[in-house]
Amino acid sequence: MTDSEIAANWRAVVARVAEAARAAGRPPSSVAVLAAIKTQDLARVVAALDAGCRIVGQNRAQELTALAPDVERERPGLAETHFIGGLQLNKVNAVLRYADSVQSVDRDALAEKLSRGAVDRGRDLGVFVQVNASGEESKGGVAPGDAVAFASRVAALPGLVLRGLMTIGAHSPDPNVVAAGFRTMQRLSAELTASGAPGTAGAHELSMGMSADMDVAIAHGATMVRVGTAIFGPRGGTHPREGDQTWHAR
Ligand SMILES: *Cc1c(COP(=O)(O)O)cnc(C)c1O
Repeated sequence: MTDSEIAANWRAVVARVAEAARAAGRPPSSVAVLAAIKTQDLARVVAALDAGCRIVGQNRAQELTALAPDVERERPGLAETHFIGGLQLNKVNAVLRYADSVQSVDRDALAEKLSRGAVDRGRDLGVFVQVNASGEESKGGVAPGDAVAFASRVAALPGLVLRGLMTIGAHSPDPNVVAAGFRTMQRLSAELTASGAPGTAGAHELSMGMSADMDVAIAHGATMVRVGTAIFGPRGGTHPREGDQTWHAR
């Protein structure tokens, strides 16, 4: 994949997102595109940034730590960095050094450790509560029935700014199954922002949709899609990697 191919892919993704937004009666500016950069090297990430990308998402603490300083050196202050993978407690401090937001908050112990780390650093951390709307075992996230109560607890923690909810779409060839999960998320998001719990009124972000299902997600209210393959091409590899919740045996 050359730099110009990455740039062309970026433009195609932005056009696809705009089209899906318009079809849903929403302005294209209401949907942000996060580039999922797992396994990509510095040159490819810089190519995506130069094409117009401004939010990058990383799955593994080790890759984040290795790449983020180089990205910052090459394009200072350009990219907002999100952590989107499964997060172990012993990796929290490494992630806090480089991430502006963490999208995979799915348990109290993790939220509390992120909160303490953010307070220690005298900074705010954006957080999304991950919901396992599909119920698939390979995926992290709280059960839909627990999402609003858990998100309300997270929003009350010092140092954390609740931005909204995140999910990974069902791994199903049936578009109705995929859409049902996104519809659940849309309902939970509305419940959360209307809950009246402190810190939830502005938590309107809905991070859902990837290369294969971003159009369906946008039709159901996604405000941020997370896109890897459609920008960088297929990743290859046949084994799951730490933090990757999207891997499925074929
Ligand atoms: C890899 C990844 C994506 C992007 O997946 P593609 O199918 O390559 O677009 C989105 N979200 C998460 C959490 C990921 O790990």
